[in-house]
Amino acid sequence: MLKLPTALKAFAEALSGDGVKLYAVGGCVRDSLLGRTVHDVDLASKARPEELLERAHALGVEAKIVQRTLGTVLVTVDGVDYEHTTFRTESYGAGGAHKPDAVRFSDSLETDAFRRDFSVNALYESVSDGTILDPTGGLDDIRRRVLRTTTADPSVILRDDGLRILRLVRFAAALDFSVDPGTWEAAKANAALLKDVAWERKRQELDRILLGPRVYEALAMLKEIGALPYLLPELVPCDGMTQRKDYHRYDVLTHLFRTCEQTPDELGMRLIGLLHDAGKPEALKRDGKLYAHDVYGAEIARTMLERLRYPTALIDRVCGAIRLHMFDLRDEASDETLRRRFAGFGRERTQDLIMIREADVRGSGYKTAFVAEHWRRVYEQMQREHAPFSESELKVTGEDIMRELGIKAGERVGKIKHALLLRCAVHPEENERSALLKRMHDCL
Ligand code: ATP
Ligand code: MG
Repeated sequence: MLKLPTALKAFAEALSGDGVKLYAVGGCVRDSLLGRTVHDVDLASKARPEELLERAHALGVEAKIVQRTLGTVLVTVDGVDYEHTTFRTESYGAGGAHKPDAVRFSDSLETDAFRRDFSVNALYESVSDGTILDPTGGLDDIRRRVLRTTTADPSVILRDDGLRILRLVRFAAALDFSVDPGTWEAAKANAALLKDVAWERKRQELDRILLGPRVYEALAMLKEIGALPYLLPELVPCDGMTQRKDYHRYDVLTHLFRTCEQTPDELGMRLIGLLHDAGKPEALKRDGKLYAHDVYGAEIARTMLERLRYPTALIDRVCGAIRLHMFDLRDEASDETLRRRFAGFGRERTQDLIMIREADVRGSGYKTAFVAEHWRRVYEQMQREHAPFSESELKVTGEDIMRELGIKAGERVGKIKHALLLRCAVHPEENERSALLKRMHDCL
Protein backbone atom coordinates (compact mmCIF):
# COMPACT_ATOMS: atom_id res chain seq x y z
CA MET A 1 0.00 0.00 0.00
CA LEU A 2 1.17 3.51 -0.82
CA LYS A 3 2.26 5.62 2.12
CA LEU A 4 0.12 8.72 1.82
CA PRO A 5 0.05 11.71 4.17
CA THR A 6 -2.88 11.99 6.58
CA ALA A 7 -3.85 15.39 5.18
CA LEU A 8 -4.30 13.88 1.71
CA LYS A 9 -6.39 11.05 3.16
CA ALA A 10 -8.55 13.59 4.99
CA PHE A 11 -9.06 15.44 1.68
CA ALA A 12 -10.11 12.15 0.03
CA GLU A 13 -12.56 11.42 2.91
CA ALA A 14 -14.15 14.83 2.50
CA LEU A 15 -14.53 14.28 -1.26
CA SER A 16 -16.06 10.85 -0.78
CA GLY A 17 -18.76 12.53 1.31
CA ASP A 18 -19.72 14.23 -1.97
CA GLY A 19 -19.72 10.92 -3.84
CA VAL A 20 -16.25 11.39 -5.39
CA LYS A 21 -13.70 8.64 -4.81
CA LEU A 22 -10.12 9.84 -5.10
CA TYR A 23 -7.46 7.49 -6.47
CA ALA A 24 -3.69 7.45 -6.75
CA VAL A 25 -2.85 6.20 -10.24
CA GLY A 26 -0.07 5.26 -12.64
CA GLY A 27 3.61 5.07 -11.80
CA CYS A 28 3.19 5.53 -8.04
CA VAL A 29 0.90 2.50 -7.62
CA ARG A 30 3.05 0.40 -9.94
CA ASP A 31 6.29 1.35 -8.18
CA SER A 32 4.94 0.83 -4.67
CA LEU A 33 3.73 -2.67 -5.62
CA LEU A 34 7.19 -3.41 -7.00
CA GLY A 35 8.86 -2.09 -3.85
CA ARG A 36 10.51 0.68 -5.84
CA THR A 37 10.96 4.28 -4.72
CA VAL A 38 7.84 6.33 -5.41
CA HIS A 39 8.73 9.74 -6.87
CA ASP A 40 5.45 11.51 -7.21
CA VAL A 41 1.84 10.63 -6.66
CA ASP A 42 -0.66 11.35 -9.43
CA LEU A 43 -4.35 11.52 -8.60
CA ALA A 44 -7.51 10.81 -10.57
CA SER A 45 -11.23 10.87 -9.98
CA LYS A 46 -14.45 11.59 -11.80
CA ALA A 47 -14.53 15.14 -10.40
CA ARG A 48 -14.50 17.73 -13.20
CA PRO A 49 -11.70 20.33 -12.90
CA GLU A 50 -13.98 23.19 -11.75
CA GLU A 51 -15.78 20.91 -9.33
CA LEU A 52 -12.52 19.75 -7.78
CA LEU A 53 -11.28 23.31 -7.54
CA GLU A 54 -14.43 24.38 -5.78
CA ARG A 55 -14.39 21.48 -3.32
CA ALA A 56 -10.69 21.97 -2.59
CA HIS A 57 -11.09 25.67 -1.90
CA ALA A 58 -14.12 25.03 0.32
CA LEU A 59 -11.93 22.63 2.32
CA GLY A 60 -9.09 25.11 2.53
CA VAL A 61 -6.89 23.11 0.13
CA GLU A 62 -4.81 24.98 -2.44
CA ALA A 63 -5.67 24.04 -6.04
CA LYS A 64 -5.32 25.50 -9.52
CA ILE A 65 -6.07 24.38 -13.06
CA VAL A 66 -2.86 23.79 -14.98
CA GLN A 67 -4.16 22.22 -18.21
CA ARG A 68 -7.76 22.95 -19.03
CA THR A 69 -8.25 20.68 -22.09
CA LEU A 70 -6.79 17.64 -20.34
CA GLY A 71 -8.47 18.57 -17.08
CA THR A 72 -5.29 18.68 -15.01
CA VAL A 73 -5.51 20.37 -11.62
CA LEU A 74 -2.57 20.92 -9.32
CA VAL A 75 -3.60 20.24 -5.75
CA THR A 76 -1.23 21.25 -2.94
CA VAL A 77 -1.71 19.45 0.34
CA ASP A 78 0.68 20.15 3.22
CA GLY A 79 3.16 21.71 0.81
CA VAL A 80 3.22 18.69 -1.53
CA ASP A 81 1.95 19.05 -5.13
CA TYR A 82 -0.29 16.41 -6.67
CA GLU A 83 -1.54 16.39 -10.25
CA HIS A 84 -5.16 15.43 -10.49
CA THR A 85 -6.67 14.40 -13.81
CA THR A 86 -10.35 13.85 -14.35
CA PHE A 87 -11.29 10.42 -15.73
CA ARG A 88 -11.42 10.84 -19.48
CA THR A 89 -11.45 9.28 -22.92
CA GLU A 90 -9.43 10.55 -25.82
CA SER A 91 -9.99 10.10 -29.52
CA TYR A 92 -7.24 10.45 -32.06
CA GLY A 93 -7.01 11.20 -35.75
CA ALA A 94 -4.59 9.46 -38.11
CA GLY A 95 -0.83 9.62 -37.43
CA GLY A 96 1.10 9.01 -34.26
CA ALA A 97 1.55 12.57 -33.04
CA HIS A 98 -0.53 12.17 -29.89
CA LYS A 99 -2.80 15.08 -30.60
CA PRO A 100 -6.19 13.96 -29.32
CA ASP A 101 -8.97 15.27 -31.57
CA ALA A 102 -11.22 15.31 -28.59
CA VAL A 103 -10.92 14.81 -24.85
CA ARG A 104 -14.13 13.87 -23.08
CA PHE A 105 -14.46 13.69 -19.32
CA SER A 106 -16.01 10.55 -18.00
CA ASP A 107 -17.50 9.21 -14.76
CA SER A 108 -15.97 5.82 -15.40
CA LEU A 109 -12.65 4.65 -14.00
CA GLU A 110 -12.70 1.75 -16.50
CA THR A 111 -12.89 4.14 -19.44
CA ASP A 112 -9.96 6.12 -18.02
CA ALA A 113 -7.88 2.95 -17.61
CA PHE A 114 -8.20 2.02 -21.27
CA ARG A 115 -6.82 5.35 -22.52
CA ARG A 116 -3.59 4.69 -20.60
CA ASP A 117 -0.64 2.97 -22.26
CA PHE A 118 0.32 -0.16 -20.28
CA SER A 119 -1.68 -2.27 -17.86
CA VAL A 120 0.89 -1.79 -15.10
CA ASN A 121 0.40 1.98 -15.50
CA ALA A 122 -3.39 1.70 -15.17
CA LEU A 123 -3.72 0.61 -11.54
CA TYR A 124 -5.82 2.75 -9.18
CA GLU A 125 -5.36 2.78 -5.43
CA SER A 126 -8.07 4.37 -3.31
CA VAL A 127 -6.50 7.21 -1.33
CA SER A 128 -8.85 6.73 1.63
CA ASP A 129 -8.71 2.92 2.10
CA GLY A 130 -5.90 1.55 -0.11
CA THR A 131 -8.12 -0.75 -2.20
CA ILE A 132 -6.66 -1.38 -5.66
CA LEU A 133 -8.80 -1.33 -8.79
CA ASP A 134 -7.37 -3.08 -11.82
CA PRO A 135 -9.58 -2.93 -14.92
CA THR A 136 -6.88 -3.99 -17.40
CA GLY A 137 -5.08 -6.89 -15.70
CA GLY A 138 -2.13 -4.87 -14.45
CA LEU A 139 -1.70 -6.77 -11.17
CA ASP A 140 -1.17 -10.02 -13.01
CA ASP A 141 1.32 -8.35 -15.34
CA ILE A 142 3.22 -6.92 -12.37
CA ARG A 143 3.44 -10.45 -10.95
CA ARG A 144 4.68 -11.82 -14.27
CA ARG A 145 6.87 -8.75 -14.84
CA VAL A 146 5.41 -8.12 -18.27
CA LEU A 147 4.63 -4.91 -20.15
CA ARG A 148 1.39 -5.21 -22.04
CA THR A 149 -0.91 -2.55 -23.48
CA THR A 150 -4.14 -1.86 -21.63
CA THR A 151 -6.24 -2.90 -24.63
CA ALA A 152 -6.51 -6.45 -25.95
CA ASP A 153 -5.53 -5.14 -29.38
CA PRO A 154 -2.14 -3.46 -28.73
CA SER A 155 -2.20 -1.56 -32.04
CA VAL A 156 -5.03 0.62 -30.76
CA ILE A 157 -2.77 2.00 -28.04
CA LEU A 158 0.48 2.17 -29.99
CA ARG A 159 -1.19 3.75 -33.04
CA ASP A 160 -2.58 6.72 -31.14
CA ASP A 161 0.73 7.98 -29.85
CA GLY A 162 4.01 6.87 -31.42
CA LEU A 163 5.86 7.95 -28.28
CA ARG A 164 4.37 4.97 -26.45
CA ILE A 165 6.84 2.80 -28.36
CA LEU A 166 9.70 4.64 -26.70
CA ARG A 167 7.91 4.52 -23.36
CA LEU A 168 7.62 0.77 -23.79
CA VAL A 169 11.39 0.47 -24.17
CA ARG A 170 12.05 2.85 -21.29
CA PHE A 171 9.77 0.95 -18.89
CA ALA A 172 11.04 -2.46 -20.01
CA ALA A 173 14.60 -1.38 -19.21
CA ALA A 174 13.80 0.61 -16.06
CA LEU A 175 11.59 -2.07 -14.49
CA ASP A 176 13.50 -5.02 -15.97
CA PHE A 177 10.24 -6.37 -17.42
CA SER A 178 9.78 -8.42 -20.55
CA VAL A 179 7.42 -7.29 -23.30
CA ASP A 180 4.28 -9.23 -24.07
CA PRO A 181 4.67 -10.79 -27.57
CA GLY A 182 1.54 -9.11 -28.97
CA THR A 183 2.65 -5.71 -27.68
CA TRP A 184 6.15 -6.29 -29.10
CA GLU A 185 4.83 -7.16 -32.56
CA ALA A 186 2.52 -4.15 -32.55
CA ALA A 187 5.42 -1.89 -31.55
CA LYS A 188 7.39 -3.19 -34.54
CA ALA A 189 4.44 -2.80 -36.89
CA ASN A 190 3.85 0.80 -35.78
CA ALA A 191 7.44 2.04 -35.41
CA ALA A 192 7.07 4.38 -38.40
CA LEU A 193 4.51 6.40 -36.43
CA LEU A 194 7.45 7.84 -34.50
CA LYS A 195 8.05 10.15 -37.44
CA ASP A 196 4.96 12.14 -36.42
CA VAL A 197 6.18 12.69 -32.86
CA ALA A 198 7.83 16.03 -32.02
CA TRP A 199 11.63 15.76 -31.64
CA GLU A 200 11.50 17.37 -28.18
CA ARG A 201 9.23 14.61 -26.91
CA LYS A 202 11.41 11.93 -28.46
CA ARG A 203 14.47 13.51 -26.90
CA GLN A 204 12.92 13.47 -23.43
CA GLU A 205 12.34 9.75 -23.70
CA LEU A 206 15.78 9.16 -25.20
CA ASP A 207 17.35 11.01 -22.27
CA ARG A 208 15.49 8.86 -19.78
CA ILE A 209 16.53 5.71 -21.63
CA LEU A 210 20.17 6.83 -21.76
CA LEU A 211 20.21 7.70 -18.06
CA GLY A 212 18.38 4.58 -16.95
CA PRO A 213 19.64 1.09 -16.23
CA ARG A 214 20.26 -1.60 -18.91
CA VAL A 215 21.17 0.99 -21.53
CA TYR A 216 22.54 -1.62 -23.92
CA GLU A 217 19.38 -3.72 -23.80
CA ALA A 218 17.19 -0.66 -24.25
CA LEU A 219 19.16 0.54 -27.29
CA ALA A 220 19.10 -2.96 -28.76
CA MET A 221 15.32 -3.00 -28.30
CA LEU A 222 14.99 0.33 -30.12
CA LYS A 223 16.91 -1.19 -33.01
CA GLU A 224 14.88 -4.42 -33.02
CA ILE A 225 11.61 -2.51 -33.00
CA GLY A 226 12.79 -0.40 -35.94
CA ALA A 227 12.74 2.91 -34.07
CA LEU A 228 16.25 4.05 -35.07
CA PRO A 229 15.31 5.61 -38.44
CA TYR A 230 12.96 7.97 -36.57
CA LEU A 231 15.19 8.67 -33.61
CA LEU A 232 18.85 8.35 -34.60
CA PRO A 233 18.67 7.85 -38.38
CA GLU A 234 22.40 8.38 -39.02
CA LEU A 235 23.18 5.31 -36.88
CA VAL A 236 21.24 3.00 -39.20
CA PRO A 237 24.21 2.43 -41.61
CA CYS A 238 26.36 1.45 -38.57
CA ASP A 239 24.19 -1.64 -38.17
CA GLY A 240 26.06 -4.64 -39.56
CA MET A 241 29.16 -2.62 -40.49
CA THR A 242 31.99 -4.97 -39.60
CA GLN A 243 35.35 -3.83 -38.32
CA ARG A 244 38.87 -5.18 -37.95
CA LYS A 245 38.47 -8.29 -35.88
CA ASP A 246 41.70 -7.70 -33.97
CA TYR A 247 40.29 -4.48 -32.53
CA HIS A 248 36.57 -5.12 -32.47
CA ARG A 249 34.39 -8.05 -31.63
CA TYR A 250 31.22 -6.21 -32.68
CA ASP A 251 29.80 -4.34 -35.64
CA VAL A 252 29.84 -0.53 -35.34
CA LEU A 253 26.28 -0.19 -34.02
CA THR A 254 26.71 -2.83 -31.31
CA HIS A 255 30.02 -1.24 -30.37
CA LEU A 256 28.32 2.17 -30.02
CA PHE A 257 25.59 0.70 -27.82
CA ARG A 258 28.12 -1.15 -25.68
CA THR A 259 30.39 1.87 -25.35
CA CYS A 260 27.43 4.02 -24.37
CA GLU A 261 26.59 1.56 -21.62
CA GLN A 262 30.20 1.70 -20.37
CA THR A 263 30.15 5.48 -19.89
CA PRO A 264 29.33 7.08 -16.53
CA ASP A 265 25.68 7.82 -15.85
CA GLU A 266 25.72 11.41 -17.16
CA LEU A 267 23.96 12.63 -20.30
CA GLY A 268 26.90 14.26 -22.10
CA MET A 269 29.11 11.22 -21.60
CA ARG A 270 26.34 8.83 -22.63
CA LEU A 271 25.88 10.80 -25.87
CA ILE A 272 29.61 10.84 -26.57
CA GLY A 273 29.66 7.06 -26.12
CA LEU A 274 26.59 6.54 -28.29
CA LEU A 275 27.78 8.69 -31.18
CA HIS A 276 31.58 8.62 -31.10
CA ASP A 277 31.95 6.36 -34.18
CA ALA A 278 28.87 7.64 -36.03
CA GLY A 279 31.17 8.87 -38.81
CA LYS A 280 32.53 5.45 -39.75
CA PRO A 281 30.02 4.58 -42.51
CA GLU A 282 30.49 8.04 -44.07
CA ALA A 283 34.29 7.78 -43.88
CA LEU A 284 34.23 4.40 -45.59
CA LYS A 285 31.85 5.67 -48.27
CA ARG A 286 33.76 8.86 -49.03
CA ASP A 287 37.37 7.83 -48.50
CA GLY A 288 37.35 4.03 -48.58
CA LYS A 289 39.01 4.08 -45.16
CA LEU A 290 38.06 5.05 -41.63
CA TYR A 291 40.87 7.50 -41.01
CA ALA A 292 38.74 10.69 -40.86
CA HIS A 293 35.73 9.19 -39.09
CA ASP A 294 36.26 11.50 -36.12
CA VAL A 295 35.85 14.56 -38.37
CA TYR A 296 32.75 13.18 -40.12
CA GLY A 297 31.43 11.85 -36.82
CA ALA A 298 31.54 15.27 -35.15
CA GLU A 299 29.54 16.78 -38.05
CA ILE A 300 27.02 13.95 -38.13
CA ALA A 301 26.56 14.06 -34.36
CA ARG A 302 25.88 17.79 -34.58
CA THR A 303 23.14 17.25 -37.15
CA MET A 304 21.55 14.56 -34.99
CA LEU A 305 21.76 16.49 -31.72
CA GLU A 306 20.49 19.73 -33.25
CA ARG A 307 17.54 17.86 -34.69
CA LEU A 308 16.81 16.45 -31.24
CA ARG A 309 16.95 20.04 -29.93
CA TYR A 310 19.72 19.56 -27.40
CA PRO A 311 21.15 22.76 -25.90
CA THR A 312 24.06 24.26 -27.84
CA ALA A 313 26.57 23.91 -24.99
CA LEU A 314 25.90 20.17 -24.73
CA ILE A 315 26.14 19.76 -28.52
CA ASP A 316 29.49 21.59 -28.59
CA ARG A 317 30.80 19.46 -25.78
CA VAL A 318 29.73 16.13 -27.33
CA CYS A 319 30.91 17.00 -30.84
CA GLY A 320 34.20 18.40 -29.54
CA ALA A 321 34.94 15.15 -27.75
CA ILE A 322 33.97 13.08 -30.81
CA ARG A 323 36.28 15.18 -33.00
CA LEU A 324 39.18 14.47 -30.61
CA HIS A 325 38.45 10.90 -29.57
CA MET A 326 41.20 9.46 -31.78
CA PHE A 327 43.91 11.70 -30.26
CA ASP A 328 46.94 9.65 -29.14
CA LEU A 329 45.11 6.40 -29.73
CA ARG A 330 48.33 4.43 -29.50
CA ASP A 331 49.36 6.04 -26.22
CA GLU A 332 52.57 7.33 -27.71
CA ALA A 333 52.41 10.93 -26.52
CA SER A 334 54.94 11.99 -23.89
CA ASP A 335 53.88 13.38 -20.51
CA GLU A 336 54.85 16.86 -21.71
CA THR A 337 52.74 16.62 -24.84
CA LEU A 338 49.79 15.35 -22.84
CA ARG A 339 50.13 18.17 -20.33
CA ARG A 340 50.10 20.79 -23.06
CA ARG A 341 47.18 19.22 -24.87
CA PHE A 342 45.14 18.77 -21.66
CA ALA A 343 45.69 22.40 -20.67
CA GLY A 344 44.48 23.42 -24.13
CA PHE A 345 41.43 21.13 -23.87
CA GLY A 346 40.43 22.30 -20.40
CA ARG A 347 39.35 20.05 -17.52
CA GLU A 348 35.93 18.99 -18.78
CA ARG A 349 37.08 18.00 -22.25
CA THR A 350 40.10 16.17 -20.85
CA GLN A 351 37.85 14.19 -18.52
CA ASP A 352 35.46 13.44 -21.39
CA LEU A 353 38.34 12.16 -23.52
CA ILE A 354 39.73 9.96 -20.75
CA MET A 355 36.23 8.61 -20.15
CA ILE A 356 35.46 7.88 -23.81
CA ARG A 357 38.84 6.21 -24.25
CA GLU A 358 38.11 3.82 -21.37
CA ALA A 359 34.52 3.16 -22.44
CA ASP A 360 35.61 2.69 -26.08
CA VAL A 361 38.08 -0.03 -25.10
CA ARG A 362 35.58 -1.77 -22.81
CA GLY A 363 32.90 -1.47 -25.50
CA SER A 364 35.12 -3.20 -28.07
CA GLY A 365 34.51 -6.55 -26.38
CA TYR A 366 38.18 -7.25 -25.67
CA LYS A 367 39.97 -6.92 -22.39
CA THR A 368 42.80 -4.70 -23.52
CA ALA A 369 45.00 -2.81 -21.08
CA PHE A 370 43.44 0.62 -20.74
CA VAL A 371 45.51 3.13 -22.65
CA ALA A 372 43.75 5.79 -20.63
CA GLU A 373 45.75 4.84 -17.54
CA HIS A 374 48.66 6.96 -18.68
CA TRP A 375 46.34 9.88 -19.47
CA ARG A 376 44.63 9.58 -16.14
CA ARG A 377 47.93 9.59 -14.27
CA VAL A 378 49.14 12.71 -16.09
CA TYR A 379 45.80 14.48 -15.60
CA GLU A 380 45.67 13.69 -11.90
CA GLN A 381 49.23 14.84 -11.42
CA MET A 382 48.39 18.15 -13.11
CA GLN A 383 45.44 18.53 -10.78
CA ARG A 384 47.58 17.85 -7.72
CA GLU A 385 50.14 20.39 -8.87
CA HIS A 386 47.38 22.97 -9.54
CA ALA A 387 48.39 23.28 -13.17
CA PRO A 388 46.25 25.79 -15.07
CA PHE A 389 43.64 24.40 -17.50
CA SER A 390 42.70 27.69 -19.07
CA GLU A 391 44.21 31.10 -19.69
CA SER A 392 41.93 32.57 -17.06
CA GLU A 393 43.75 30.48 -14.46
CA LEU A 394 47.08 32.17 -15.22
CA LYS A 395 48.32 34.54 -12.54
CA VAL A 396 48.67 37.36 -15.09
CA THR A 397 46.03 39.05 -17.22
CA GLY A 398 46.03 40.44 -20.74
CA GLU A 399 46.42 43.90 -19.21
CA ASP A 400 49.60 42.75 -17.44
CA ILE A 401 51.00 41.43 -20.72
CA MET A 402 50.28 44.69 -22.56
CA ARG A 403 51.78 46.81 -19.82
CA GLU A 404 54.86 44.67 -19.28
CA LEU A 405 55.67 44.26 -22.98
CA GLY A 406 54.39 47.67 -24.09
CA ILE A 407 52.12 46.16 -26.74
CA LYS A 408 48.56 46.93 -27.77
CA ALA A 409 45.48 44.78 -27.43
CA GLY A 410 45.24 42.24 -30.25
CA GLU A 411 45.93 38.76 -31.44
CA ARG A 412 49.48 38.84 -30.11
CA VAL A 413 48.31 39.18 -26.52
CA GLY A 414 46.18 36.05 -26.96
CA LYS A 415 49.10 34.15 -28.44
CA ILE A 416 51.37 35.09 -25.56
CA LYS A 417 48.74 34.05 -23.04
CA HIS A 418 48.39 30.71 -24.77
CA ALA A 419 52.15 30.20 -24.80
CA LEU A 420 52.26 30.93 -21.05
CA LEU A 421 49.44 28.45 -20.46
CA LEU A 422 51.33 25.70 -22.28
CA ARG A 423 54.50 26.55 -20.37
CA CYS A 424 52.70 26.38 -17.00
CA ALA A 425 50.96 23.14 -17.96
CA VAL A 426 54.42 21.53 -17.96
CA HIS A 427 55.87 23.73 -15.18
CA PRO A 428 52.96 24.57 -12.85
CA GLU A 429 55.33 26.16 -10.33
CA GLU A 430 55.89 28.97 -12.86
CA ASN A 431 52.26 30.06 -12.63
CA GLU A 432 53.22 32.88 -10.35
CA ARG A 433 53.07 36.59 -11.15
CA SER A 434 56.75 37.60 -11.08
CA ALA A 435 57.90 34.44 -12.91
CA LEU A 436 55.28 35.01 -15.62
CA LEU A 437 56.19 38.68 -16.03
CA LYS A 438 59.76 37.55 -16.72
CA ARG A 439 58.80 34.57 -18.89
CA MET A 440 56.56 36.57 -21.22
CA HIS A 441 59.59 38.38 -22.68
CA ASP A 442 60.69 35.03 -24.17
CA CYS A 443 57.34 34.74 -25.93
CA LEU A 444 57.80 37.83 -28.07
P1 ATP B 1 7.46 7.54 -14.22
O1 ATP B 1 6.96 8.88 -13.75
O2 ATP B 1 8.08 6.69 -13.18
O3 ATP B 1 8.27 7.63 -15.45
P2 ATP B 1 4.71 7.07 -14.77
O4 ATP B 1 3.99 5.79 -15.04
O5 ATP B 1 4.28 7.87 -13.61
O6 ATP B 1 6.21 6.68 -14.70
P3 ATP B 1 4.19 9.41 -16.35
O7 ATP B 1 4.80 9.78 -17.66
O8 ATP B 1 4.47 10.23 -15.15
O9 ATP B 1 4.62 7.90 -16.11
O10 ATP B 1 2.62 9.34 -16.60
C1 ATP B 1 1.67 9.02 -15.57
C2 ATP B 1 0.65 8.05 -16.10
O11 ATP B 1 -0.08 8.67 -17.18
C3 ATP B 1 1.21 6.78 -16.68
O12 ATP B 1 1.38 5.81 -15.68
C4 ATP B 1 0.17 6.39 -17.69
O13 ATP B 1 -0.92 5.77 -17.07
C5 ATP B 1 -0.32 7.73 -18.22
N1 ATP B 1 0.45 8.19 -19.42
C6 ATP B 1 1.47 9.08 -19.46
N2 ATP B 1 1.89 9.29 -20.71
C7 ATP B 1 1.12 8.54 -21.50
C8 ATP B 1 1.08 8.32 -22.91
N3 ATP B 1 1.92 8.92 -23.75
N4 ATP B 1 0.12 7.46 -23.35
C9 ATP B 1 -0.72 6.85 -22.50
N5 ATP B 1 -0.72 6.99 -21.19
C10 ATP B 1 0.19 7.82 -20.67
MG1 MG C 1 5.01 9.82 -13.04
